[in-house]
This record gives sequence, C-alpha cells and structure tokens, in this order.
Amino acid sequence: MSALFGTYARSELAFVRGEGMRLFTEDGTAYLDFASGIAVNALGYGDQHVTDTLKAQADKVWHVSNLFTIPEQEKLAQRLVDATFADAVFFTNSGAEALECAIKTARRYFWDKGEKQRIDIIGFTGSFHGRTIATLGAAGNAAYTEGFGPMPGYKHVHPGDLAAVEAVIDGNTAAILIEPVQGEGGVTAFSDAYLKGLRELCDKYGLLLIYDEVQCGYGRTGKFFAYEWSGVAPDILAVAKAIGGGFPLGACLATAEVARVMVPGTHGSTYGGNPLACAVGNAVLDRILAPGFIEHVEQMGKLLAYELQQLMQKYPGYITDVRGKGLLAGIKITPPVRAFVERLRDHKLLTVAAGDNVLRLLPPLIATEADIREATGILAAAFAELDAEASSAAQ
Ligand code: PLP
Repeated sequence: MSALFGTYARSELAFVRGEGMRLFTEDGTAYLDFASGIAVNALGYGDQHVTDTLKAQADKVWHVSNLFTIPEQEKLAQRLVDATFADAVFFTNSGAEALECAIKTARRYFWDKGEKQRIDIIGFTGSFHGRTIATLGAAGNAAYTEGFGPMPGYKHVHPGDLAAVEAVIDGNTAAILIEPVQGEGGVTAFSDAYLKGLRELCDKYGLLLIYDEVQCGYGRTGKFFAYEWSGVAPDILAVAKAIGGGFPLGACLATAEVARVMVPGTHGSTYGGNPLACAVGNAVLDRILAPGFIEHVEQMGKLLAYELQQLMQKYPGYITDVRGKGLLAGIKITPPVRAFVERLRDHKLLTVAAGDNVLRLLPPLIATEADIREATGILAAAFAELDAEASSAAQ
C-alpha cells in the first residue's frame, strides 16, 4: 500500500537510471523513451554539460532569495529575451505557475489602465494549462474541474472558428489564451491562419494574446518556440518543462508594455529562478540553441511524421489520423489508447496517451533516425500483434 495520494494511475515500472534515449529498471531492462517525462527531458538522460553544470553550481550556492540579484537568473532572462519576442521574464517552478503569472499579468494590465472589469480570459476546448485553480478554470475541462468549486473569469470556445471567439468577446474580456499545439487535448496543431486571426481579434478589441508553450515550446516543434512557425507573436508566453531539462523551472515571458505593470509586490515566488535552477536552465539553453540542434529536431519531426503516415497507410483500421508538429506527434487510433500504451510498454517503448484517443509520441529532442525507426518499428509490431489477435479470436 503506497503512502502517496492516489492521484495517479501509476504503472509499477520503476526506473533507476537513464542514458541518452533510454531508461533502465533495476534489473537492467532498457526502455526506448518516446515520452520524455511528458516533454521535459528534451536532452534525454545524463547530458554531460547539464550534469556537470548542476554539480558545479551545487558546490557554489543552491538557493538565494529573490530579494537579491541572482546572476544566473539575470543571464537566463537576457538570453530568453534575446531569442524571442519578449522584453522581460518572470521565473517559476512549473508550467501552471508560469500561466498563473501570465493570467495575473493580463488582469493587472487592464487594472493599471483603469479597466478593472476586464478580467475574463477566453480559453479553448481541449486545452490544458495545469492543475491550479486558475489554470483549471482557463482550460475548463469538466473532467479536471469537477468537485473543485466555481472558477469564474473564463469563457470557453471550440478552437478553429474565429467567429466563435469574436462572439464571446465583450467589455470584460482581457485575453485569449491558447496552446499553439495542444498537447494533452490530443496533439492538435493550429494553423498559422488561425493564430493570425486570433492576433487580429486581440488587436481589434485591445485584448492580450497569451500562448501556452509549456509543452510545445523550447525546440520541440522544430523552432525555438512554436509561434515562430506562424510569425505571430503573443504579448505573454508561458514556458516550462524542457526549460529545466528535468529540473523544476518555468517562465512567463512578456513584452515591456505588459510586463511594466508587474511592479514590486504584485507577484513573487520563493524558489522561482534560484541559482541552481537557472544554472541548469542556462546549460540546457546552451544545448538547445547550439547551431544545428533545432534544425535536427525539424528533420527528425519530418521523418517521424513520414513514418507515421506510412504506418497509417498500412493499418488504416487502427490509425485514423496523424497529427502534431515536429517531435510532438500524435496518432489517433481505434483501439483504446491507454491499453495500447501498456502494450507498447511490454515492447519496451514508452509513449503517452492524450485526449481524443490519441497516442502521443514526444521523444527527447536528441532522437536520431535510428531511434525513430526503432520506435515506429515497435508500433508496427504492436499493430501486427493486434491483427493476429483479432484473426485468432475470429477463428
Ligand atoms: N500547459 C501545458 C500545455 C501543459 O502541457 C502542462 C503540463 O502538462 C501545463 C501547462 C502544466 O505544467 P505543470 O505540470 O508544470 O504545472
């Protein structure tokens, strides 16, 4: 009997070591990782540069309060500003906290302008922004909000239809919040035209555009941030997961016009952006922004999409759609996805289920051609196995 809250339907598998693309159990069994701790382990396991940096920083100082200047934090913020639309950064420990900062910043922006009633955020069906009350409210998924009380201040529309968004905008609306590629909801990449349309609506009605790139950002789609594909920049962006490569770290990025309202006393975090986290964050960024790294992700993303298309042609009865962008890929399948994830685990391949019965494939960004062919080979074997079981049951 576990002493933990029963909030997860955990597998009994326990990994004791990781190396590159693989995780190992106590008895030495290797699993090919196409889950990356759900988009966290962008550099796989045991990246030497990151590990060395963490050890070196651990010998210097782990934590200093945000009441003092933290050089590693200043450096990471400046690098993020240099590489994105943003002018200022607030560091957090998680994705949900990065979004909390984004939502607070949006509301405070209008409060500062004297438009205090503008607090509503428009979110989208199928989105996921975290497990805090505000982020649950923003996503509005009944499966996650049930039993946790009212969450006012949010409106929800189905994504894809700009007129539906415009129809809910009123004098209380502050911002539109969207994942450029929905992860948990079923690996849905929105078109450049749709994101452009949302930006135009924000500009027309004086709203802020917030991107949640907690899962799709940091190189995963083959650009540093997914919004770069559309060229449509937000006012505020939340990032986490890969930014720390496994160390808890997140960030809220914003333009100067918006960030200026977050004056002393408006927000804070005890741990957010501490020396150890930001030293690791800088080391991760060294690797992500190294010449050729993101281009590699783009190429591997194309290969993965091609291999999955091939698989869909071979097994149209099992795969009905191939989705996603770069190394955030999904296949909509007909067998129940959670059982299929377990089947793949039996074949020593780690994947993640997403909404809409989609199997999510999100390997570390260091995945090679051989890793992708190995993973898609295992998928093919698992579908062939389903076929064999179906025909023997029919006999
Ligand atoms: N936003 C997105 C798009 C996510 O995928 C997640 C986590 O899966 C979150 C926010 C929440 O991040 P965290 O679990 O670090 O709070």
